[in-house]
Amino acid sequence: MPTNILIVEDEESILELIAINLKQSGFNPIRAISAEFAEKIVNEALPDLIILDWMLPGMNGIEFAKRLKTNSETKIIPIIMLTAKSEEDNKLLGLNVGADDYMTKPFSPKELIARVKAVLRRKAPEQTQESITQHNLFLDPNKLILKSHNQKVKIGPTEFKLLYFFMRNPDIIFNRNQILDKVWGNQSIIDDRTVDVHIKRLRDCLKATGDDKKIQTVRGLGYRFNED
Ligand code: CA
Repeated sequence: MPTNILIVEDEESILELIAINLKQSGFNPIRAISAEFAEKIVNEALPDLIILDWMLPGMNGIEFAKRLKTNSETKIIPIIMLTAKSEEDNKLLGLNVGADDYMTKPFSPKELIARVKAVLRRKAPEQTQESITQHNLFLDPNKLILKSHNQKVKIGPTEFKLLYFFMRNPDIIFNRNQILDKVWGNQSIIDDRTVDVHIKRLRDCLKATGDDKKIQTVRGLGYRFNED
């Protein structure tokens, strides 16, 4: 599954520099020269991360970040802000609107890539392959092993991915579209009933150990992973 990174930058030379470096590092860069254009892209499919320039014609980077972070569907997208301003105040303002990291121009592309990887590891750990423990549940994504109270539990590959995603993001409510985006990627052939089908299968897998209750339905909103 390619990791889609949306770059919002009105200076074409910088936009290209970032895009080329992302591509060389195995990411899929998506280019936007304004926040308005970027918003259209985000509405079609959530990117895995946004590199967002502060100074943009029209809606600026701070306003766009605010919009993204106050919308329940888009607030999970990590943002790295770019700016020519270097004062600490601006940094704080950027982080206050919910940016996950911050880089001052001019920056080294190598460092930007390192920051991208660090933010993805932190914010979208389903991109990494680390094992995880939540309460009595243990998942090893490299061996596709699920254990509950140290006992192996049989689980299908899709249910595994779904559970891995939930355990990486405990207590957060996700709607079906977000789950589709994060677990299946942008495959338009899949409709959102698919999510319900696999949630049911996942609960079936977890029933014997009583862990099915951890996959909660939040009426009208979606699903979440929760202990109680
Ligand atoms: Ca700019």
